[in-house]
Amino acid sequence: MNETKVIVALDYSDQISVDRFCDQVSPNDCKLKVGKELFALLGPKLVTELMARGFDIFLDLKFHDIPNTVARAIKVVCDLGVWMTNVHCLGGQKMMMAANEARVGIGSDTNLIGVTMLTSHDASDLQELGITQSMENQVLSLASQAKNSGLDGVVCSARECKILRNRLGGDFQFVTPGIRLDNDLQDDQTRVVTPMDAIKNGSNYLVIGRPITRSDNPAGKLRLINESIQLNSSDHIKTPESS
Ligand code: C5P
Repeated sequence: MNETKVIVALDYSDQISVDRFCDQVSPNDCKLKVGKELFALLGPKLVTELMARGFDIFLDLKFHDIPNTVARAIKVVCDLGVWMTNVHCLGGQKMMMAANEARVGIGSDTNLIGVTMLTSHDASDLQELGITQSMENQVLSLASQAKNSGLDGVVCSARECKILRNRLGGDFQFVTPGIRLDNDLQDDQTRVVTPMDAIKNGSNYLVIGRPITRSDNPAGKLRLINESIQLNSSDHIKTPESS
C-alpha cells in the first residue's frame, strides 16, 4: 500500500468532533494535522492519544521567535514523537538552524519544515508587508534559506511547487495547503489548487481541512480525494505499451 499523501487539518474546536472524525478513518487513509486551536485547547495529551490510534501527526504550531526559544520548543515537540512539525521561515536562518540543531541534538527523526508565505496571502498582502519582490521569488528565497538551514522541506502553495522542486532538488519535501476541489468553497485561501494538480506539480503531501472536515460525509470526501490522486498518479506510470 502506498503511503497516504493527504494530511487532514483537524481544525475542530472540541474533542468530541475530533473523535467522531477519527472513528471514521484509518491511519492508512490520512495523516492528521493538529494546529494552534486544538493544541491550545487539548495540548500534548490529544497528540499522544492520536498517535496511540496509529496516526502520523503533523504538529503545526509555526514557531516564530528568537532562536533559543524556538530551539527549546522544538526539542519538546520532537520529544513527543510527532511525525512532522514546523517553524516560520520568516524567523530567519539563525532561528531555523537553532531549531534544526535542537532536533538533531536529541537524535529525533521528526520532520522539520518551514512555512514560506501563507496560502491566504496574495501579491497585495506582500506589498502591505513591505515585501517588494514577487510571491514566487519571495517563496524561493525563503525555501532556499530553509534548505540551507538543514530543514527537510517547506510548506508552500502547490502553485509554487514545480519551480521550487526544480531549484531545490528531489529530496526536499513540499507540503501544500490551499487545496480545493473544483466545486469546493475557497474560504479564506487565495492561492488554491486541486489535489490532482498539486500532485502533478510535485507536492509530497496535501494539507486539506475544511473541504473534508466541513463535509456532510468527511470519510467519503477523503476517499474521493485519495482515489482521485491515485488515478492521477497512475496516469504517470509508463506501461511497456505506452513507452
Ligand atoms: O481548511 P483549509 O483546507 O483551508 O485548511 C488549511 C490548513 O493549512 C489550516 O489548518 C491552515 O492553518 C494550514 N496552513 C495554510 N497555509 C499555510 C500553512 C498552513 O493554510 N501556508
